[in-house]
Amino acid sequence: DQSVCAPLAVLGRDVTVPLVTGGEVTYAALDYAASAPALQRVWDDVAAYAPYYGSVHRGAGYLSQLSTDLFENARRTVAEFLDCRSDDQLVFTRSTTDSLNLLAATLPADCQVFVFETEHHASLLPWRDARVTYLNAPRTPEQAVATLERALADRDPSPSSRLRSSRGGPYGPALVCVTGASNVTGELWPVRELAAAAHAHGARIVLDAAQLAPHHPVSVRDLDVDWVVFSGHKLYAPFGAGVLAGRADWLREADPYLAGGGASRKVSRREDGGVDVEWHDTAARHEAGSPNVIGAYAIASACKALTEAGFDTLVARERHLIDTVRAGLAGVPEVRVLSLFGDDAARVGVISFVVEGWNSSHFAAALSAEYGIGVRDGLFCAHPLVRTLLGSDPQTQGECGAPEAAPGEKSLNAIRVSFGAGTPDEHVERFVTAVK
Ligand code: PMP
Repeated sequence: DQSVCAPLAVLGRDVTVPLVTGGEVTYAALDYAASAPALQRVWDDVAAYAPYYGSVHRGAGYLSQLSTDLFENARRTVAEFLDCRSDDQLVFTRSTTDSLNLLAATLPADCQVFVFETEHHASLLPWRDARVTYLNAPRTPEQAVATLERALADRDPSPSSRLRSSRGGPYGPALVCVTGASNVTGELWPVRELAAAAHAHGARIVLDAAQLAPHHPVSVRDLDVDWVVFSGHKLYAPFGAGVLAGRADWLREADPYLAGGGASRKVSRREDGGVDVEWHDTAARHEAGSPNVIGAYAIASACKALTEAGFDTLVARERHLIDTVRAGLAGVPEVRVLSLFGDDAARVGVISFVVEGWNSSHFAAALSAEYGIGVRDGLFCAHPLVRTLLGSDPQTQGECGAPEAAPGEKSLNAIRVSFGAGTPDEHVERFVTAVK
């Protein structure tokens, strides 16, 4: 029922697209996991602010002061949305990928990173300068916790451990990076338990909430994670802005992510001709250059809209959509839904599947061309996970897509349907009919 989620109405509901079979149909956007449509409310808020925006942290004019206030208020609103600790820092970035690369650039020397092979590439790949332990895909949430505990207990003592007094103890610093909800299976990961395991072994943990935050409340305090990251464009705001929030110390002690104006407090010429720089030790340290004020403002607006509509409403509505899709797919014998944790796993509205006898790319193209349904096909930037789930040969696949399977071969890629706020019943019903 649309009225249930009226405050969460999204843009694009009336967009029509042509069908190869003739005529046109309203577009069914079922690729929220890639980018969700913006909330009407976010768009209206941004439009209302647009005539007034000015430079932030720089100008003396009234509109510059107003924009600076709005930018800093946005920071507070998002920190509240995430239930951050009072001494946490929140940095506005470009995206989840950018946030994790920023965190990777702040790792202390000798930091060991632990990451499940099932992660999105944005969580799997930024730790290039660290010693990384890739953990095998668990088949239950309990196995995930046990796997992490074992890996942390087995880690090598730090070569310079005697010099350290940090939480890393004799092992030096360590960081665990884990997703809250999988972008492939939609399954929820046991974040609180993984955080407890990490802390028990002197490690820190960053939560990739790119797929979790749009669907469930995220409390940094409750989950006891050290950092959280997400992207605005998956949380019903437009592209171009993301968030890294959490412990201030690593951020404060690291070199600025970008060097430039805004990150520096004082710059002076030295007598020897060089330059001395004093960097800020607040979020500004990692926000050099003119920030994406509209992006930050839009994320804050989305956070407010979600909070006001209430996650209880959102979760109940999404549960109904998930049940409709899963029941529909279960009625098609050729469909295999991909899952790590099994049928009973808690999940968000992200479901991937393969159809026996079908090439997934052709199937997704047909959903678009014949039914006006937008889904995604491919490996979803989580190659090791999708390969594990498909049981296919890693040598034969391409970057974020995949080559076609020869007739009679196993699918080399999958189809993903995903939805959330503002998805009408008709879209998921059309999808189920189309698959059937
Ligand atoms: N992590 C997860 C779990 C994701 O689903 C995505 C986006 N698919 C990312 C990270 C990267 O997000 P972005 O492309 O906005 O940087």
